[in-house]
Amino acid sequence: MSDEQNKTIADNVIIYDIADGIEPIPVKVINNFDDTYPFSFEYGSKHRLTKEVKQLLHNPTPTDGCDCATDCNPKTCRCQAGSTVKFYSNVRRVSLRSDTQTVQSDEYQYIECGKHCGCHGKCGRQLSRDTIFKKMEIRYKPVIGFIVTACQHIAPGMPILNYVGSIVINGVNEDFDPDFGTDYTFNLYEGDLLVHCDAAKYGNISRFISHSCYPNACLMKVYPCNKPAETDKLILPKLVIVALRSIVPGDEITIDYGIDYFRERDLPCLCYNYNCRAPPDDFEEKCKTLDDINKERAKSRRQVQANMDDSKDL
Ligand SMILES: [Zn+2]
Ligand SMILES: [Zn+2]
Ligand SMILES: [Zn+2]
Repeated sequence: MSDEQNKTIADNVIIYDIADGIEPIPVKVINNFDDTYPFSFEYGSKHRLTKEVKQLLHNPTPTDGCDCATDCNPKTCRCQAGSTVKFYSNVRRVSLRSDTQTVQSDEYQYIECGKHCGCHGKCGRQLSRDTIFKKMEIRYKPVIGFIVTACQHIAPGMPILNYVGSIVINGVNEDFDPDFGTDYTFNLYEGDLLVHCDAAKYGNISRFISHSCYPNACLMKVYPCNKPAETDKLILPKLVIVALRSIVPGDEITIDYGIDYFRERDLPCLCYNYNCRAPPDDFEEKCKTLDDINKERAKSRRQVQANMDDSKDL
């Protein structure tokens, strides 16, 4: 029997579909170690907006879009000009630099076309969707907690899933600590507004994604239109988690939370990568060298290249 079959038989599935039928496929939760169960939360695959956020949302007009006819020409499209990456719709991949070590999430942004554009949003530039893109499951990892693992091959630049939560404006919503948020808060600075995307009580499986100082995925902001020159309205991006490296089945999906997450909580990071910025006491004994990582990466790259048929979106 292969290792893969062995693993499947041994898996102790504690929830058969944590997504409650909302995603294209059921998402299992597995705990092969103890009786720890995930804290309950409400599952949703799209941001939940408070009343205040809804009132502030910008309504795109033709001047916020492009004037391309039918299919957008990447050389002249205004929506593409405002984007820092290209999207290749035939292979469903974004042009990220796959050798990037650490990425600031503000580094990558993409502006989608919409009904307000000359192409009416029917061009090949559409990237986002409101469900998970890839097959994944949630697994319990001792000491760390529940993590998200890939169940298929994922090539660098492929969108994996959205980071989803309740959208809250700093200082407006009272049941929310505006200074710290929760352990599930992602801060967005949009114009003059500090907006939190909080997944403590509501969200999708992205809330289980853990941190690594050498992550294999990053957040990319996907906006519904270009930003008007002057506006006090809010243009809310989707937060799309995109693969930075070749990911193979069983790999944990990780992003970089930023070092402040660990500083504010006075916690060590447990990623054990050579470049860890908040190493624990036993770091020296357990850490992975750059050489170890490069060998693993070369192996994963070959495996993904040989299994591109298994890398398609759900
Ligand atoms: Zn265009
Ligand atoms: Zn377009
Ligand atoms: Zn456009």
